[in-house]
Amino acid sequence: QNTAPADTKVTPMMAQYIEIKTANPDSLLFYRMGDFYELFFEDAEVAARALGITLTKRGKHQGNDIPMCGVPVHAADDYLQKLIALGHRVSVCEQTEDPAEAKKRGSKSVVRRDVVRLVTPGTLTEERLLDSGANNYLMALTRLKGGSLTGDAVYGLAWIDMSTGTFQVSETDHQRLAADLAQVAPRELIIADMLLQESDLRQIAEQSGGALSPVPRTFFDGSTAADRLSHYFGVKTLDGFGTFTRAELSAAAGILAYVEKTQLGERPPLDPPVREAGAGRMLIDPATRANLELSRTLSGERQGSLLATIDRTVTGGGSRLLASRLAGPLVDVDAIHRRQYAVSFFLENEIMRESLRQTLKGAPDMARALSRIALSRGGPRDILAIAHGLTASLAVLEQTGATPSEIPAEIAAARASLEQAPHGLGSELLAAIKDEPPLLKRDGGFVASGYNADLDELRALRDESRKVIAKLQADYSEELGLRSLKIKHNNVLGWFIEAPTAQTEKLTADPGRFIHRQTMAGAMRFTTTELADLESKIASAGERAMAIELEIFDRLTAAIIEAGAAIKSAAHGLSKLDVSAALAKLAQEENYSRPLIDDSRAFEIKGGRHPVVEQALRKGGGESFVANDADLGPEAGEDIGHIWLITGPNMAGKSTFLRQNALIAVLAQMGGYVPALSAHIGVVDRLFSRVGAADDLARGRSTFMVEMVETAAILNQAGDRSLVILDEIGRGTATFDGLSIAWATIEHLHEVNKSRALFATHYHELTALSAKLDRLSNATVSVKEWNGDVIFLHEIVPGAADRSYGIQVAKLAGLPAMVVERSKQVLSQLEEQDRNTASETLIDELPLFASLSPQAAAPTAVSAPESAALTALSNFNPDDMTPREALDALYKLKAMQ
Ligand code: ADP
Repeated sequence: QNTAPADTKVTPMMAQYIEIKTANPDSLLFYRMGDFYELFFEDAEVAARALGITLTKRGKHQGNDIPMCGVPVHAADDYLQKLIALGHRVSVCEQTEDPAEAKKRGSKSVVRRDVVRLVTPGTLTEERLLDSGANNYLMALTRLKGGSLTGDAVYGLAWIDMSTGTFQVSETDHQRLAADLAQVAPRELIIADMLLQESDLRQIAEQSGGALSPVPRTFFDGSTAADRLSHYFGVKTLDGFGTFTRAELSAAAGILAYVEKTQLGERPPLDPPVREAGAGRMLIDPATRANLELSRTLSGERQGSLLATIDRTVTGGGSRLLASRLAGPLVDVDAIHRRQYAVSFFLENEIMRESLRQTLKGAPDMARALSRIALSRGGPRDILAIAHGLTASLAVLEQTGATPSEIPAEIAAARASLEQAPHGLGSELLAAIKDEPPLLKRDGGFVASGYNADLDELRALRDESRKVIAKLQADYSEELGLRSLKIKHNNVLGWFIEAPTAQTEKLTADPGRFIHRQTMAGAMRFTTTELADLESKIASAGERAMAIELEIFDRLTAAIIEAGAAIKSAAHGLSKLDVSAALAKLAQEENYSRPLIDDSRAFEIKGGRHPVVEQALRKGGGESFVANDADLGPEAGEDIGHIWLITGPNMAGKSTFLRQNALIAVLAQMGGYVPALSAHIGVVDRLFSRVGAADDLARGRSTFMVEMVETAAILNQAGDRSLVILDEIGRGTATFDGLSIAWATIEHLHEVNKSRALFATHYHELTALSAKLDRLSNATVSVKEWNGDVIFLHEIVPGAADRSYGIQVAKLAGLPAMVVERSKQVLSQLEEQDRNTASETLIDELPLFASLSPQAAAPTAVSAPESAALTALSNFNPDDMTPREALDALYKLKAMQ
């Protein structure tokens, strides 16, 4: 359709550009021209802005200047990284023939070009584009209507890490979906464009944090899904891989279709898909995950997260495995025990552990090197990485072998995979590639000398010829009496003789022998038949040597790919050992203990600490962390867990206490040790937290709305195996609203959800609830008052806080002395007036779930002043009031008593 008259003036190159660009509309096109990738039109404008590079122009299109910018090929990775990080996709378009070929077709012909790769956030493999300690997941999400018995829609998930080859699938439902996406935290999420039009699904997809890549629905076509998979893996039937649901197959097929589309024919070496039972993991919804700062802080950084705090791994693979274990704590008691044994083993065998860690430190990232090699993106350094990795596995085998104690199953399995590794290949690779080889194979010179006799000979010839050239220079300069005569080399002329123009008389006098090549500012350049002969000898030796090197490269990489599965499993074995050893190291350094995990409803933590705050305090060199107990387990003879209601002044340590218990549960169920003297935890199947209303302000959503959405999710989903952490519920609205919501929330948790829960609040009125709810206990953070100042002891003790110490905290914060004094006066007056205890009245008048039973739905009788107060109250609109008006209103209410 591109035949509009205006286009007829388009240069052939621009015509080719437009054609390629039209075929790749939703990505930035890197168009190769010589040593640059150029971008044109809107792409140029977008890229120039994103990369901070100069926007220029080149020629005209339909009468307008064509905007252009470019990045040098040798630095392209850095620019790619920036663009990908900003969520762009990039099509890389290369010259696919030698320019000389194009010339043969006619002077106007353009070099053939083609897109060789579509770079997207989820399909990266380059070392420089990847974070070594983080997985780079590409994920596909699909939905099947009425797949399950109940007729509800089911969702299929598939995710791969192209840089390591892992491939997992799972099936889930609408309720779990957001949590399952958050567990994987994909860099890129593929989803049928139709599904993205549903706003709630779009929201869930966006919440995953990955770049969204909409694709046609046909990618997930169920009828061809199994074929696509078996074709990809070259098998007749998928039976050997296990059984998959229809939703899983559809998601897996979708991801493969996308991989084929973006990799244009290259096949990343994926493992066969493994079914990951979502139900085998602790459910942690995205809000909880974010609030608890498991792998990122609320501001998005790794530093300061739980992951960064506990990571003692020494390899990239180990760090990635630790991250994925932390993201998906287990719920299977036996599986947790298996991991615990491995950690204990490395705690007991410290010498072994340290020598193992020493070896691992030097072990390269075999999994990623292998993927690059298999995608034809590998270089000599990747071969060397495999070689060193295999050598390391041999050393690790030796180090972990000799032990008097029995080897735990987890470690034995890792060792078994190391035993299978192709160690012979390792030594061959080591012999073949020299130390510190060049990055790219096309640079040559990476094969070690002594490895191939022909190659050694050619290299000798080449070196020999260089000596001959040196001799030739000496001969010429002596013969012509020209000491300044030199024989040099450059890429345009090759070898040439150079002499200062003023002294070239003798050379120009003999043009039959000294053939003039070039005149420079102060010098002239010549060649001779002798020199040309030598040059071609050197060149052909070089070419032949290069051919041999490339042949060796191809042979070695083929052998590596052949042994790919064994190499990958060895790499995984190393990662597992790294993680177990690192958790042991952590336990030792930080004084963690092994939690007792079972299927009970226990949650008994003695001397628990917050892992992140504890380390931060120590680094700060100030006060040390105060350990605290928590016990939410059932009493003897019961099987329902308890709720603790924690009151206490701001800054006392309520949030810290809440979070530390959630983090201890996560650490325990990922198979690690925990920051506590002892811990007994009955497996937590779902973890919920709602903390810190103020933290969400930045997102510009109504804080109160966010808080209520999250609370609703908890009350709808939490069960008797869940652990719930609620901090300051109801803070985001007017006092009475907030108090009522908090009140009802506790009742619901206690009566309906029956979860183990920690509830921190500043509503002292709530402490009265413990009289009604038998599994609710009050706790408070102890505080000392000294000379009118408040000292936080950070100690959790039974009972209710007697005061809120708000004024003391305000004073600590530097409120002007006048304001502090005045607040004290106001407070004592308020307290004077407040001698009838509101909460006791409340508790008598509000039978549990009064509103749920029809008889009790009738309004309870109220006294006259109360009725007046209620009328006044109903006229207040807290959202519209200034703080001043609110205070006035409060006084008015008080006056009605
Ligand atoms: P609250 O939620 O009661 O307002 P936080 O939990 O935010 O209080 O704690 C306030 C500060 O007190 C934290 O920044 C922390 O440094 C310190 N803190 C809290 N708990 C402890 C503890 N157990 N030991 C030592 N310091 C603590």
